Amino acid sequence: MDVSNDLICENLTAVDGVLHFAGQNTADLAQEYGTPLYLMDENRIRRQARVYRDTLQECFGDKGHALYASKACSFKRMYAIMAEEGLGVDVVSAGEIATAHAAGFPMENAYFHSNNKTDFDIAYAMDCGVGTFVVDHPEELTAINAVAGEKGVVQPVMLRITPGIDCHTYEAVNTGKVDSKFGSAIVTGDASRIVKQALDAPNVTLCGFHCHIGSQVFDSSVYIATVDVMVDFLKDMKDTYGYTTEKLDIGGGYGVRYVASEPTIDIAASIREVAAYMKEKVAAAGIAMPHVYMEPGRSIVADAGLTLYIVGAVKKIEGYKNYVSVDGGMTDNPRFALYGSPYTVLPATRLGAARDMTADVVGRCCESGDIIQLDVALPADMARGELLAVLTTGAYHYSMASNYNRIPRPPVVMLRDGASYVAVRRETLEDIVALDE
Ligand SMILES: *Cc1c(COP(=O)(O)O)cnc(C)c1O
Repeated sequence: MDVSNDLICENLTAVDGVLHFAGQNTADLAQEYGTPLYLMDENRIRRQARVYRDTLQECFGDKGHALYASKACSFKRMYAIMAEEGLGVDVVSAGEIATAHAAGFPMENAYFHSNNKTDFDIAYAMDCGVGTFVVDHPEELTAINAVAGEKGVVQPVMLRITPGIDCHTYEAVNTGKVDSKFGSAIVTGDASRIVKQALDAPNVTLCGFHCHIGSQVFDSSVYIATVDVMVDFLKDMKDTYGYTTEKLDIGGGYGVRYVASEPTIDIAASIREVAAYMKEKVAAAGIAMPHVYMEPGRSIVADAGLTLYIVGAVKKIEGYKNYVSVDGGMTDNPRFALYGSPYTVLPATRLGAARDMTADVVGRCCESGDIIQLDVALPADMARGELLAVLTTGAYHYSMASNYNRIPRPPVVMLRDGASYVAVRRETLEDIVALDE
């Protein structure tokens, strides 16, 4: 059987029918670290981070900046890698801030997002020296201004603007539309009003605008449409309030390939296209070129991740369907349950074998929605003890993992230059009961 079609990212190879990831044998790694197991390819993470960093610098010089949206995959080592690569980070909670801080991340390069920052989180973020707050709505701005006043600081802020763009991806991850729960919309006049409020607030400094139109975007035209609306908005704010925008963040969202039928994107080429358009548009608007930020999450880490499972129950319901159960499930990969997301599932040690059975690959949680993927082609003699690999699991897996059914979360093992190390250890049964009084 030809497996080349399954090797959807350049860090995947087949050696004698065994899947290798980042040049390392997945069967050996499963043996060494146990399953379920999250593997991450550190070189791939760095490579993707550099594509954004270098392309934005190439296009905008010292006004081009890449941030990593850390919610995609958040643990101390990730923040340390981003610091080493010179990226800033987006954080959305005290937990992410605490993790970045504990990793020694330079907090002045952290951007605090979220549509609902609690009073605790606002105060905590200021105490940790988070550089910039990305403010979602007027009440939040009032709260931030008040806390900054109490602390005697002037907090730099950006405002999250809703440009009203439908990015034609999944509804649940589509955030740039006018009726989104995120941000202040331009068309309703809310965006202009919050700018006025920020300019008048004594304890914050307005340093620019942010928008994010959604996720799994494969098309530059979505960003070009966003730039179009946002630069018009910058011009409007200049004309209305005499305000010169210092920073413009056009969001994250570039898509990744989960299955062979999805495209790959040349991210650098796409950024160059968007940058060229932005320069023209800014010149035509007669405004100063702001610092430009992009804040990808998924496209930095997704295909740097892979999950290994051991097969347990194989159930063939004659005349109906087949199930292959694995030793993890929605607890380590909730994305099929949440979005029906597609995944590539491979028999990791028998890549060359005929795949003459169709089965639903399911987890071990007491929940019928605990599905990794439907209708997966696998060898008909698949049996207990065999190794399965699920590709492209670096984004929104570990960071969305839960302890449902009191299942311990898998470790994250990093692969780098032929070696491996534990970045997050496996949760133990002691960890599971540790919080119970
Ligand atoms: C989630 C998110 C991102 C990252 O999106 P990806 O699709 O992972 O690139 C960037 N910015 C904001 C505000 C987000 O909410």
